[in-house]
Amino acid sequence: MSRPPAEIIRTKRDGGALADADIGAFVRGLVDGGWSDAQAAALAMAIVWRGMTPSETAALTRAMTHSGRVLDWAAARLGKPALDKHSTGGVGDKLSLMLAPMLAACGAVVPMISGRGLGHTGGTLDKLEALPGLDVNQDDAGFERVLRAAGCAIVSAGPTLAPADRRLYAIRDLTATVESVPLITASILSKKLAAGLDALVLDVKCGSGAFMRDEADARALAESLVRVAGEAGLRARALVTGHDGVLGTAAGNALELREAVDFLAGRIGPGADEPVQREVTMALGAELLQMAGLAADGDDARARLQRALAGGAAAEHLARMVRAMGGPPDVLADARLPVAPVQRPVPAPRDGVVAAMDVRALGLAVVALGGGRLQAGDAVDPRVGLSAVRPRGHRVRAGEPLAVVHAAGEAAADAAVAAVQGAMVLADAAAAPPVAVRGVLG
Ligand code: URA
Repeated sequence: MSRPPAEIIRTKRDGGALADADIGAFVRGLVDGGWSDAQAAALAMAIVWRGMTPSETAALTRAMTHSGRVLDWAAARLGKPALDKHSTGGVGDKLSLMLAPMLAACGAVVPMISGRGLGHTGGTLDKLEALPGLDVNQDDAGFERVLRAAGCAIVSAGPTLAPADRRLYAIRDLTATVESVPLITASILSKKLAAGLDALVLDVKCGSGAFMRDEADARALAESLVRVAGEAGLRARALVTGHDGVLGTAAGNALELREAVDFLAGRIGPGADEPVQREVTMALGAELLQMAGLAADGDDARARLQRALAGGAAAEHLARMVRAMGGPPDVLADARLPVAPVQRPVPAPRDGVVAAMDVRALGLAVVALGGGRLQAGDAVDPRVGLSAVRPRGHRVRAGEPLAVVHAAGEAAADAAVAAVQGAMVLADAAAAPPVAVRGVLG
């Protein structure tokens, strides 16, 4: 007989450790509805405050992984290593959309189970759904069909994979309970362990746009992810990456999808883009190719990824994936993305260099425009967000644009213009250039 939810919550609230049976009862209650949203949120908040021991975190991850089915890509005989990457979340973070086809072009299969926007950060599924007709909800047969057609498939977890995370993720999104090493570890790894991978690379972000603002907290999360993955038999490495600027130049679902397509299609070449986005993409890809034995060393891996971009192979894998998932037949030539009715440049209030930005505030501005959710089940507006966001180090004159706001109406545009002006710090001299990769663990 398991203990009642209130007793389990009380134990954690008072700083105690939960037994495996308590954790099992919580996860079962998430799936069968035996725990209410209020009880789940209360335990999540107690975990945010009190933390979990490594063995509690491992038990929570195990229970959430086995809350649904566990896939086995070896059984599907795809003949290639199954690789994946996951990010702890960011603003403008479209790296999965770029990296999955690049890895497929380098000889891997990438069965990627992604999430939706969380807090101030965007979600890969919301971005993909900006493409008319594209269906991220694939059953097993659909998932395998897309993988065979394109070498990569980015899909939603569906009701049967890690269903406990699906419910807890939605509750955490609305109750300020995202920022917790054990909860993020269990959330990310339950989906990844259920996907039956050969190797995983984790992009653990730190900085003003990340859930872990401090580098020390990000390292603790990276260590937790690598340790729990390893204990569960999954080879994983984590990169701690800096997130003190918007990744790339766009934040918002259709706008990011457009930027990812342009990156893969070679329309944004090296030097013409925001450097952190390109460097983190290459670094994550290089780790995975080496872990899978698809590259001899880091230089070889980067050269392979670069060739996949330059020769158009990565772009072609994206186009095949989009087609196989019901999206536009030629996403590279005509993505058919919806466009916001109001587009408004954000004038710089003074001359200066973009020295810093409050990336979380920029993410919240995108959410306020309708690009994210305030309540579970809210529809997101794929058209809205920010484009042409000036990176750190960029010099502007007063009145020149810091970014362009894409809004559904004039009032929303006014509010977003003010939010962007408040979030971007202009100084007389440039700060030190951003460091993209701050460490590799695992
Ligand atoms: N990404 C996830 O999948 N879960 C989290 O908790 C945070 C980021």
